[in-house]
Amino acid sequence: MDCIFCKIIAGDLPSYKVYEDDKVCAFLDVLPIHPGHTIIVPKIHVSDVESLDDGELCAMVTVMKKIGKAVMEGLGVKGYSILLDNKDAANQHVPHVHFHLVPRKEGDGLGRWPQSGYSEGEAEECLKQIQEKL
Ligand SMILES: [Zn+2]
Repeated sequence: MDCIFCKIIAGDLPSYKVYEDDKVCAFLDVLPIHPGHTIIVPKIHVSDVESLDDGELCAMVTVMKKIGKAVMEGLGVKGYSILLDNKDAANQHVPHVHFHLVPRKEGDGLGRWPQSGYSEGEAEECLKQIQEKL
């Protein structure tokens, strides 16, 4: 399989591994938004969140929390952002599901995503369409 993250997990590509257990691996992003930017992946090749077993997702979130605490304490940052681009439409570049954990500082220049609003009745319709699928 030609997956860069699978190669990193297997040790076939060099990486700065931050953490590893039987289900999850985490390593530094080599093109960090800020130093300490960490990628968190399941060890099995799964392309997106919907294909991920709930137990594996929980394992990823547990590791995310652990690394977030270590990043704040170790790097002296006051917070972090979590990003997950799920599928092509969301600009997922590597088709192996992954969280980005990005250390943050006040005034670091990373703003919020652009926001908009709802037109009359749009929120209610949106809510109905989502809730019908839950
Ligand atoms: Zn993979």
